[in-house]
Amino acid sequence: MSEEANPFESLQEQIDDAAVYLDIDDGVIDRLKSPERVLETNLTFERDDGSLKTVRAYRSQFNGDRGPYKGGIRYHPGVTRDEVKALSGWMVYKCAIVDIPYGGGKGGIAVDPADHSPAELEGLTRAFATELRPIIGEDRDIPAPDVNTGQREMNWIKDTYETLENTTAPGVITGKAIDSGGSAGRVEATGRSTTLAARETFDWLGREIEGATVAVQGYGNAGSVAAALLEDLGADVVAVSDSSGGIHDGSGFDTRAVKAHKTETGAVSGYGDAESITNDELLTLDVDLLVPAALENAVDADLATDVDADVIAEAANGPLTPDADDVLTERGVTVVPDVFANAGGVTVSYFEWVQNRQRFHWTEERVNEELERIITDAFEGIIETYEANDLPNLRTAAYVVAIERVADAYEQGGNWP
Ligand code: NAD
Repeated sequence: MSEEANPFESLQEQIDDAAVYLDIDDGVIDRLKSPERVLETNLTFERDDGSLKTVRAYRSQFNGDRGPYKGGIRYHPGVTRDEVKALSGWMVYKCAIVDIPYGGGKGGIAVDPADHSPAELEGLTRAFATELRPIIGEDRDIPAPDVNTGQREMNWIKDTYETLENTTAPGVITGKAIDSGGSAGRVEATGRSTTLAARETFDWLGREIEGATVAVQGYGNAGSVAAALLEDLGADVVAVSDSSGGIHDGSGFDTRAVKAHKTETGAVSGYGDAESITNDELLTLDVDLLVPAALENAVDADLATDVDADVIAEAANGPLTPDADDVLTERGVTVVPDVFANAGGVTVSYFEWVQNRQRFHWTEERVNEELERIITDAFEGIIETYEANDLPNLRTAAYVVAIERVADAYEQGGNWP
């Protein structure tokens, strides 16, 4: 993994690449390249031995022209202010591509949750929720899960917010457990949209997903669900990996059995008698479809020259550096961009919020049907823009669609006299 690419600079470069094809005032483009505000704060929490620990935490509210800020909260020792800013910007464009009425935000705490007990993590999460309380809200900023956070942390944030505000506000956060106001289908949504995006792309390219070979890097929420749903479509998932390394089986894995093995042992490695491979070997396997589903910058320009996949569907946010993207465009690899491919997570978060506001539950069938409609409509819009403007790749097409929508919303709001 390259340590060099700064994700915030990557985001700005992606916007510049698309802006060339748009007739939008430079002043507006500048506005769309940096966050409106960033909260940077200390969180102090008690450890089980009674000592205190302080960590840094961030919440970036990138743009609210199309609706409340929306985006996950990540717990990872590598979290930085620039990473959170980039992730919050990607949320703006993601929400615009699938045309849901949200802006973009993102949060993160620079901490390794593996170093902490559940009680310590609860103290930490409630400390963050207390800092966030003045700036979040059902109509203001709506956090969600991201790397190393899930329903448990979302429930703690909701409970802290509601207690401090003396109200019930299930729509203040999404990704909750069903009994706390969560939505059916939310856990699977990111992997589902990645699968739908890959299916539509294969269809557009005149290729069959059935029988296609697939490698998946990262076997957490997004990666393991995408692997299972691609297997359901008849693809052969021949390699998967996580931070402990990868496994390979040319005849295709039973992806749910691999997931059960990871849940039991903590890693995909050691599954059956599958051959062990490194993450770099996985990323350069000769496969029809590669699904990076771990973290940013998994593929840099060097590695991109060795990538042997025909299609890459980005389940992770920012898995290719901009230089890697250029190499892959040059080499004719079709990249289905993160801001579209993994938009299922925020789309079903939006459905969760709508259900919370309506105080009414949808069935899983309805959630999945609405998600499929939104993803296939968004794909059509991206392809129309790509073909009409003869754009270099699908990422630029997705940004052209999204930037136009955000800039329109800003311009329609007008300026103070
Ligand atoms: P997760 O924590 O559930 O899973 C991450 C996986 O990546 C784990 O299996 C971990 O072992 C693996 N990993 C970490 N470093 C690795 C490395 N160097 N090589 C190989 N594997 C590695 O997280 P997630 O929710 O699945 O998120 C994964 C990516 O998808 C992130 O980029 C996240 O921003 C993005 N994403 C997630 C959602 C969502 O709803 N969960 C939505 C949109 C985007």
